[in-house]
Amino acid sequence: MKSELSLKDAYPCPFCGSDDLKIDIGDEYCKRTPLKMVCCECEASGSHVYHPDNDISEAVRKWNQRASYNVPSPVVRITNKFEILASG
Ligand SMILES: [Zn+2]
Repeated sequence: MKSELSLKDAYPCPFCGSDDLKIDIGDEYCKRTPLKMVCCECEASGSHVYHPDNDISEAVRKWNQRASYNVPSPVVRITNKFEILASG
């Protein structure tokens, strides 16, 4: 049984940090309806997903993947780079 995600499970916007998000429902395309997550603050949008039953889980999942990619790198990485530069 796959886990169902709803709008409240979506991560904050990776660009502006807003949690004011919505699901944008596009025009039907080949009997499928495109859904995507949109930030109401900066209008960033997630990947389109197509689902016959208007299931928003996949749209939320894609948005969360993208939000995860944009988590800032740990500061320790930057520190290590400076240490390498300093010792070289
Ligand atoms: Zn945003």
